[in-house]
Amino acid sequence: MNLGAIFIGLALLVLVIPLVIGPFRGKRHRKLPPPISADAVPGNHRQQVLLTLRDLDFDYQTEKINEEDYTRVRTQLLFEAANTIQSEQQEKVRIEELVRAGREAASPTEKCPQCGRPFRAGDKICPGCGSYLTARCQSCNHANQPADKFCTNCGIRLNDRLEQG
Ligand SMILES: [Zn+2]
Ligand SMILES: [Zn+2]
Repeated sequence: MNLGAIFIGLALLVLVIPLVIGPFRGKRHRKLPPPISADAVPGNHRQQVLLTLRDLDFDYQTEKINEEDYTRVRTQLLFEAANTIQSEQQEKVRIEELVRAGREAASPTEKCPQCGRPFRAGDKICPGCGSYLTARCQSCNHANQPADKFCTNCGIRLNDRLEQG
């Protein structure tokens, strides 16, 4: 074997190594979740701004833009990020209010027979006096209102010794 053959052999080895390792590396990369495009997700404006900010930092470090532009654009972006975060929080508060209003509208309030305080349907204990707000049917265990005389599920007459709760 002469020197030329050894050299060609080494060259081939160098070429082959990436081909052998390549598929493994490719596999590992495929397991990662696909990057989410900021445009594809509505309301992901903040992420977009932060990505732009990162690009800007990179451009500045690689001296693609001068310091004056960098400072100006960066300030703008930070402003925008702050605004976006603020409006996201406002939106969240608004949604929570809507959910609460919707929940209250969906459950008409009744009054506790003991203290008269209104409670929501589904409440088991009165928020005002702590008394039981449901009366279990002795036959089917359905939760009736304390004032009910007959079970609203199976129709039997509820006796006086109802299991409360
Ligand atoms: Zn009460
Ligand atoms: Zn019943």
